[in-house]
Amino acid sequence: MATQTGEKKWYTGSCHCGATRYEIKLDASNLELTKCNCSICHKRGYVLLKVPTLEDIKLISPASLQELGDYTFGTCLVHHRFCKTCAVSCLAEAKIGGEEMYTVNALSIDQDQGIELKDVKIGYVNGKAIGSLYKFEKLGPRDEPHQGGCW
Ligand SMILES: [Zn+2]
Repeated sequence: MATQTGEKKWYTGSCHCGATRYEIKLDASNLELTKCNCSICHKRGYVLLKVPTLEDIKLISPASLQELGDYTFGTCLVHHRFCKTCAVSCLAEAKIGGEEMYTVNALSIDQDQGIELKDVKIGYVNGKAIGSLYKFEKLGPRDEPHQGGCW
């Protein structure tokens, strides 16, 4: 069954060992995925999906984000959360200017739910120049990765 544009549904996501589990509400026909050339995104290979509102994401396990590993650097505004068992990073959270924001690593969305990441043209952001993915210069979908990046 084809997904209608604008129809949001809940999808599951998890780390590799299953200790981290979440649900995210998405319009799978209209995903905006980005790769960023900043140091953490590059080394972790993140495919970023910004969660539009806090109501669109539910952490199922562990009980709180604080139970996950937490990596921060630079301004320490962004908490890169990761599973303490398998080290997979499912999401990052930030509180900037009083606003809470979540970004999911789209590669941690569970497979075989009808989301085809291969069908989404990736946008690239110049986080390296800006220093934060939350203030990024959107380069938009491109035919090739940014300098130093990869598909
Ligand atoms: Zn895990």
